[in-house]
Amino acid sequence: MAVREFRFFREDLCDRCGDCFAACPYLELPQGEAKREIGGLIERGSSLALEVCNTCHTCDAVCPNGADPYELVLEHWSERRKQGLPTTARLVTPSEPCNIWSCLKAVMPADELALLRSWDDFSPCEEICLTGFYTSVVPYLLQASVLEGLPKIVGSEALFGCAGDIYKTGRFDMVEQISRRLERVFSEMGVKKVVCSMSAEGMVLEEILPRRFGADFAFEVEPLDVWLLRKLQEGEIVPVRELGMKVTVHDNCLSKMQGGRLQEVNREIVRRTGCDIVEMRHTRERSMCCGFGAAAARFRVMDIMSSGWRRLKEIEATGADAAVIYCPACLFILSVIKEMAGSRMPFYHPVELVEMAAGGEPPRRHEDRAWDMAAVISNHLVKYALFPSYRKSFQPAFISPEIQPLPQLPRGDRLRMKALAALYHSPVVQNRIMRSVISLGFKAAVAAYDVRHWGQASPRA
Ligand code: SF4
Ligand code: SF4
Repeated sequence: MAVREFRFFREDLCDRCGDCFAACPYLELPQGEAKREIGGLIERGSSLALEVCNTCHTCDAVCPNGADPYELVLEHWSERRKQGLPTTARLVTPSEPCNIWSCLKAVMPADELALLRSWDDFSPCEEICLTGFYTSVVPYLLQASVLEGLPKIVGSEALFGCAGDIYKTGRFDMVEQISRRLERVFSEMGVKKVVCSMSAEGMVLEEILPRRFGADFAFEVEPLDVWLLRKLQEGEIVPVRELGMKVTVHDNCLSKMQGGRLQEVNREIVRRTGCDIVEMRHTRERSMCCGFGAAAARFRVMDIMSSGWRRLKEIEATGADAAVIYCPACLFILSVIKEMAGSRMPFYHPVELVEMAAGGEPPRRHEDRAWDMAAVISNHLVKYALFPSYRKSFQPAFISPEIQPLPQLPRGDRLRMKALAALYHSPVVQNRIMRSVISLGFKAAVAAYDVRHWGQASPRA
């Protein structure tokens, strides 16, 4: 069978103005240098962008001609990754036994496991709320009383997060397979409307899969943020108190699509809870990555830490009382970074702000979940150190259109996860001295990594 070539960059529309790489928050090049870099990438497939890109989407958002330069970076990564994905990608590949979701299920509380089980139901239904890859990491968010009017909540990691993560790796063949699975599942369910609890996944369903992979979806998409603002505007959710905080808002990569519509929606939600907004240095279409994009780019745990720490420092530099993070993936990654760095900055998802403004008390478990995630990452690093076979790159299994049972977490991983999570939540770790040691160690390790890999303490800061 012929292998399909995926070509998404529109060279015919590109006038090589360099605006893309001049605006890139990781390159920040003078215009002349930016022109040379994009020219080099187009003509010779060589550019610094291939090494420093954090998949943030800024270049696509600012390109005046709609040439999609980020896709050119992905096309080159796609070539590199045809032979396999680095082992760290196992964490976000549900067909691999030791992925984030199977690991977390070994340590999640019973109420959250019950929610996940109830959502794993693909029986016919015209209107659904899709859980999203990373809302399933923080399922307690969807327990808020202000969300009572949502349609039936459905979803599981068997949908591969609608391919959002895999798209960032450049494995377009897998994206196409996931797209066929989604078409089949949603069509068999007879779905006519999907409220996406993870709005980034809504962008994948509305934009990336139909435009680039020919996905034929017969349903309307409404991101949860839009749903929430609509309920506030229609008076179905009524704030009864002003929260009165000064907050900063972190914008995620896919919020830069559709002219940044979701960025404004979320700011309006925040204002309606009685909070004032102070912006970070890199915001909206120039927002920096939470750290997760660095994982898709280079698959090095230290890259995630370094990138996330840069973003956390920008958050803290605003002097805000709290940060609002509307993407569940950014929320959990930045929560891990925050705990490692020992930062006191509170993080809120907009649903939590609205719940509080409506007089409720959301179940706030971000810090606990961050330590669960630290156990997932530690387990991965232990396996990497102990088992040479685990270090090898791997070829992900074919993703069939029908949902297949996912592999179970091996017993050894389950026991390690339980032991690590118990340790991280115990007074042995959760005391002032140990937290200070962890914070100092984390910052020193990131600084050393930055010097070794980028040649300076903070790459192009
Ligand atoms: S991709 Fe767009 S922004 Fe970049 S050089 Fe081409 S036209 Fe300019
Ligand atoms: S996606 Fe972001 S990090 Fe990557 S090249 Fe474009 S602007 Fe730079």
